[in-house]
Amino acid sequence: MRRIYLDHSATTPVDPEVAELMMKYYVESYGNPSSVHSFGREVKKALEEARSQVATIIGANSNEIIFTSGGTEADNLAIQGAVRARADKGKHLITSVIEHHAVLDTFKYLAKNGFEVTYLPVDSEGLICVEELKRAIRPDTILISLMHANNEIGSIQPIEEIGKITKEKGIVFHVDGVQSLGKIPIDVQKMNIDLLSLSSHKIYGPKGVGALYIRKGVKIMPLVFGGAQERKMRSGTENVPGVIGFGKACELAAERMAEDNKELTRLRDKLIDGILSNIEDVRLNGPRGDKRLPNNVNVCIRYVEGESLLLSLDMLGIAASSGSACTSGSLDPSHVLLALGLTHEIAHGSLRFTLGRQNTEEEIDFVIQELPKIVNRLREMSPLYHKKLSS
Ligand SMILES: *Cc1c(COP(=O)(O)O)cnc(C)c1O
Repeated sequence: MRRIYLDHSATTPVDPEVAELMMKYYVESYGNPSSVHSFGREVKKALEEARSQVATIIGANSNEIIFTSGGTEADNLAIQGAVRARADKGKHLITSVIEHHAVLDTFKYLAKNGFEVTYLPVDSEGLICVEELKRAIRPDTILISLMHANNEIGSIQPIEEIGKITKEKGIVFHVDGVQSLGKIPIDVQKMNIDLLSLSSHKIYGPKGVGALYIRKGVKIMPLVFGGAQERKMRSGTENVPGVIGFGKACELAAERMAEDNKELTRLRDKLIDGILSNIEDVRLNGPRGDKRLPNNVNVCIRYVEGESLLLSLDMLGIAASSGSACTSGSLDPSHVLLALGLTHEIAHGSLRFTLGRQNTEEEIDFVIQELPKIVNRLREMSPLYHKKLSS
């Protein structure tokens, strides 16, 4: 059976060029980058090249990049590390209600341990109000942490505008850039970002690798102590093939971003229009146009369960998601959709398609053709739908 992968915000396939390069660092160049001999030195050189590739795509310097085990660790290191280094300066932290769980659960932990957290709401499109952010700032605010692009609904926050405020107020600004990396431009200088979390496996690199950008001069405490690798910020022998694969994936992403995005945006809008015009009682979650990630489609289809939609699509070989990979499996509706003001009932019928480089127009046409049939079949069996018809 043909299979159609439309879950690229959960993870992406590793680019063959990336995989090929990584293989060399498993079997041929296997030295420890901290070793002084030639085996170590040759790997160290490749590791530093990868660091420079990651730095380049976000406009940073190589010595501002710390490799981690992924986006989750980068978020934890940024938030816990920044807070621990400033606990004597204040106890107030600001984030938003639609953050990834790697951020939200870290703040939950801090809130239980003596810190006060303000969770900014979002509007019906999933965007933060900058005026509201300004009002939330207090003299004892030590950290503001916001995501650049949302993993569920694709909304893109006005990071540059917010960065001007945090810079003026002298508050450390952490940004979760995991979903925006490689999809839309990120410039840590222009955006005044102090700490930026990145992950490799969302941009056609390997899983279990990521990075934290730490602006020169911004102090944070490490979470992991040991052999003093990564300028003491993250001890432990580096995941060498992973890091080198991540570097290559960044280089490829930078080369292809503009072109990929044009095509992704076209297919995204075709899928959105195809769903909205062929199914009744559907709403698009998140903004339209350039405030939305070029590869994200998220809709709520009334009178059906997201889980049932996913299973029916899966039987046709179509892989989608009902929110984030981390929350599917639990029956609670997505915190992001609830934050948009949707009711539990409507949020339960949510469906996310996230497109990638390899998707074709034909695949999108197939989804537009099959989804209405699935919805009709499921609605036939839905008591809620029949109640609506008879009312
Ligand atoms: C995937 C994701 C993460 C977690 O990254 P991992 O590398 O999987 O740990 C963090 N934030 C956002 C917005 C994500 O989409």
